[in-house]
Amino acid sequence: MNQEILLQTEHLHKSFDKQEVLKDISFSLSKGEVVVVIGPSGCGKSTFLRCLNGLEIIDGGKIIFHGEKISTQKKKMHLIRQKIGMVFQSYDLFPHLTIMENILLSPLKAQRRQKPEVEKEATELLKRVGLLEKKDAYPRQLSGGQKQRVAIVRSLIMHPDVMLFDEVTAALDPEMVREVLQVILELAKSGMTMLIVTHEMEFARAVSDRIIFMDKGVIVEEDIPQNFFECPKTERAKQFLNMFHYEA
Ligand code: ADP
Ligand code: MG
Repeated sequence: MNQEILLQTEHLHKSFDKQEVLKDISFSLSKGEVVVVIGPSGCGKSTFLRCLNGLEIIDGGKIIFHGEKISTQKKKMHLIRQKIGMVFQSYDLFPHLTIMENILLSPLKAQRRQKPEVEKEATELLKRVGLLEKKDAYPRQLSGGQKQRVAIVRSLIMHPDVMLFDEVTAALDPEMVREVLQVILELAKSGMTMLIVTHEMEFARAVSDRIIFMDKGVIVEEDIPQNFFECPKTERAKQFLNMFHYEA
């Protein structure tokens, strides 16, 4: 594993009104590393990802990207956001644009790239996620799983250095979950640096180099997946993992 640190936080704090949602989060993500964040609903996972890509203003600590403190660089944030791709639960594609047009929008407008070059890349990416035949379709003609794969392509075409995924399969029917997770697994294999929030435990174990377990705004436990799933160290992690077991 390459140990070059790509993205890092030091003593990150974030509050909403009087509620402290992130309490002193120190974390780092190395180049090529895949880290999965798990934890109960409301523990701060989405807020954490949103802080990392500049969608929330932080109240304390630092966010460091490529060795540079970015949490204070509001003017450069739009550039930084291109390098930190994020995919959410809802895939908000523009309904009046085709799949291809949706994908071309940001590289043409925000990055001012040339259309033939971007179109070629979009074609390759759509092929890679198995959706080339949908390029001229409109979002309403696609299933949830297909739209989510388009959302991933839309992010990848910006050439991000790191991808953040926030429960991207949570709103999907079970049969569509797999096709989206498969795309993320393949991205992991290709060496993409990723931070993934998910409740899909089998997937978490398969895709990750490291698991971070969060509860109530703190990192409670951090380990390689095998250790975390087979012998969690804390009671809180044990209780959380027990929720995924059934006994008759
Ligand atoms: P998770 O993704 O782990 O479910 P979130 O990061 O969404 O958790 O939320 C953590 C806490 O912060 C919750 O108590 C939530 O209600 C609160 N919260 C999140 N976003 C906001 C906001 N924009 N305004 C006020 N409170 C918020
Ligand atoms: Mg969330």
